[in-house]
Amino acid sequence: MHIQPDALAVARALAPDEPVILNRPQAAARAAGFFASKFPGKSLYAVKANPSPTLLRVLWDAGITHYDVASITEVRLVRGVLPEAVLCFMHPVKPAAAIAEAYHRHGVRVFSLDSAGELAKIVEATNGADGAAAEDLSLCVRLRVSSEYSELSLSSKFGIDLADVAPLLQATRQVADCLGICFHVGSQAMTPFAYVQALERVRAAIVGAAVVVDIIDVGGGFPSIYPGMEPPSLEDYFAVIHRYAESLPVSYSSELWCEPGRALAAEYNSLIVRVDRRRGNELYINEGAYGALYDAAHLGWRFPVRALGGTDAAPCEDFAFYGPTCDDADFMEGPFVLPSDIAVGDYIEIGMLGAYGAAMRTRFNGFGEGLEAEVRDEPMSSQYAGGRRDPRVSDNVVSLR
Ligand SMILES: *Cc1c(COP(=O)(O)O)cnc(C)c1O
Repeated sequence: MHIQPDALAVARALAPDEPVILNRPQAAARAAGFFASKFPGKSLYAVKANPSPTLLRVLWDAGITHYDVASITEVRLVRGVLPEAVLCFMHPVKPAAAIAEAYHRHGVRVFSLDSAGELAKIVEATNGADGAAAEDLSLCVRLRVSSEYSELSLSSKFGIDLADVAPLLQATRQVADCLGICFHVGSQAMTPFAYVQALERVRAAIVGAAVVVDIIDVGGGFPSIYPGMEPPSLEDYFAVIHRYAESLPVSYSSELWCEPGRALAAEYNSLIVRVDRRRGNELYINEGAYGALYDAAHLGWRFPVRALGGTDAAPCEDFAFYGPTCDDADFMEGPFVLPSDIAVGDYIEIGMLGAYGAAMRTRFNGFGEGLEAEVRDEPMSSQYAGGRRDPRVSDNVVSLR
C-alpha cells in the first residue's frame, strides 16, 4: 500500500481516476487506546461500523480485546483475523445455525436477545452433543430505550419494553451463567444524558424483575465530530455513565461494557474524489449514495471537505454533490463548503468516513471499486487530539442524584 503524508500527496502521486480510500491507522489506534484506558469498563468494537481487517488489527494492537459481531460472516471474519479476540454476538435475532456455529466452532459465549423465542433458540443451539445445556453462556437482554438524544434512531427494531422485561430477565437468569442487560441509545448521541435516561430504565428493569445482574452494557452511540455536530467530550460521557452505573443494584462483581462503533472507526478513513462535471454549484463526483457517502445522501449528513491543490485565493461557497450512478437519488445535498473556482478535474478530500462510510460501498452500476492509501496527517476533526475543552467545566455534565 502507498504511504504518503496526506491526501494532496496521494492525489499528486496517483492522479487517480477512481476514488481513493485513505487509512489513518494512527488515528484509529489513538481512539482505541482512549477507550481502552478511559472507559470505566470493557469496550467492545462494533464491527459493522467498519469491518476492514487492517482496522481490526490496529484496534487489537491498541488494546481492544472484545468485538461486537452481528452476523455469522462477521464472526468468521473477526475469528480469522484475531484468533484470540472475545466475540460477542449482539444481534437479538439470529439464525439457529449461526448461533450453533458461533458457539461450537468459534468459541462465542456472549449472545444478546430480546424475546423468549430467541432465548429458546440460543439454549437449543448451544446444547452439547449429549443434549446437555450449555453452562457457560453470558446472555444480554436488550432493553428498548429512547433514541431522542441521538442523530440516528435504533429504538424501533430491537429491544423489549420495560413493561414486558421482567419475565424475560427471570427466564434468562435461569439458563445464563452471566446475565446482562444491554441497550443502544441510537448512533451519534449528542449528550451524555442519553445514557442516563437509558440507565434509569435499566434500574427499573432490575428492580422490577428482582434478578442478579452481572453485566451492564451501555451499547454504542458515542459521537464523533462532523460539521454542525460538535458533541461534548467523551470524558463527559464516561464520567456520567460511570457514576450512574455505580449506583445500580447489581452484583458486586458486575461488569460495565460499551460497544463503540462510530467513535472507534470514524477518524480512520477519509476519501479522495474527483470532480467529473460542474453544473452551477452542483459537483458530479465519483463516489456517492451507493458508496461511502450513503449517510450524506440518505440522512443528509454533512462531512468535512477540502479542495486538494488550488490557490486558496477564491472565496468559499456552498456546493451539493451528485454521485457517479445514473440514479437521481445519488445526490448529497450538503452543503459542502468549497472554493468557488473548483473545476472539473479537481480533487476533493471528504473526511470522517471511517464509520458507516467505507463499509457502505457497493458495486451498483459498476462503481465502487477504488484505490487505497495510507496517510500520516491528522483526521479532519478528532475527539482524541487534545485541545478540546475541559470536561470539568462543560455544562453538558448531567448532575445525578
Ligand atoms: C451499530 C451498533 C453499535 C455501534 O453503534 P455506534 O453508534 O456506531 O457506536 C453497537 N451495538 C449494537 C448492538 C449495534 O447495533
